[in-house]
Amino acid sequence: MMQTRTRETYDTPDVTFFETGTPGAGQYHCPSCGYGITIHAPLPICPMCAGTVWEQVSWTPFARALEELQTERLRSIRSPERTSQA
Ligand SMILES: [Zn+2]
Repeated sequence: MMQTRTRETYDTPDVTFFETGTPGAGQYHCPSCGYGITIHAPLPICPMCAGTVWEQVSWTPFARALEELQTERLRSIRSPERTSQA
């Protein structure tokens, strides 16, 4: 039975992929090598790995603030409360 797959791969929030030649507007990065570009022209072939797919990076101020908030929270969680340290 192969039906008990977890949904781990669906954890990525709203990611859109664009192929080389698609008119670009904004920031993109190559999912294969992580190379990032900012472009307002047809998407090129990745100069690093010759990949032909780009992942759009959305830079909304809200998303950024949220990310910072989560980082902050994560930090406070990861630092254990060692008040009983003598
Ligand atoms: Zn690449």
